Amino acid sequence: MEDNCIFCKIVKNEIPSYKVYEDDLFLAFLDIKPLNPGNSLLIPKDHYRWVYEVPNFGAYWQVAQKIALATIKSLNADSISFVTLGHDVPHAHIRIIPRFQNDSHADSIDFKATQEINSDQMAKIAQKTALQIIN
Ligand SMILES: [Zn+2]
Repeated sequence: MEDNCIFCKIVKNEIPSYKVYEDDLFLAFLDIKPLNPGNSLLIPKDHYRWVYEVPNFGAYWQVAQKIALATIKSLNADSISFVTLGHDVPHAHIRIIPRFQNDSHADSIDFKATQEINSDQMAKIAQKTALQIIN
């Protein structure tokens, strides 16, 4: 745990989040500045700087797959884009972005095209997606 890490604070429930998935090692929650509705962030609960430093790398991506499939179902998304740039928050995260026909990203991801989604909607999206996750 790093004291000033915003994601470590989310793991410790010091900062509230719209949780989509949680197990002993990983946590997924909705990005509050989503690039599309249902955009979630999957993190290891322990603090690692980069995705490729997470020790159980295969298990990490299997959870990402679960969330991707659940997101497709819950939001009727066309596909999912995974992004792992990691330069914004210094705690490993896989960005899971549902894609829709005619969304604002075309054949790439426009990182400036964030959306405003009210808290009621965010809570509903998180709940709907969590219900679709098959363990
Ligand atoms: Zn952290």
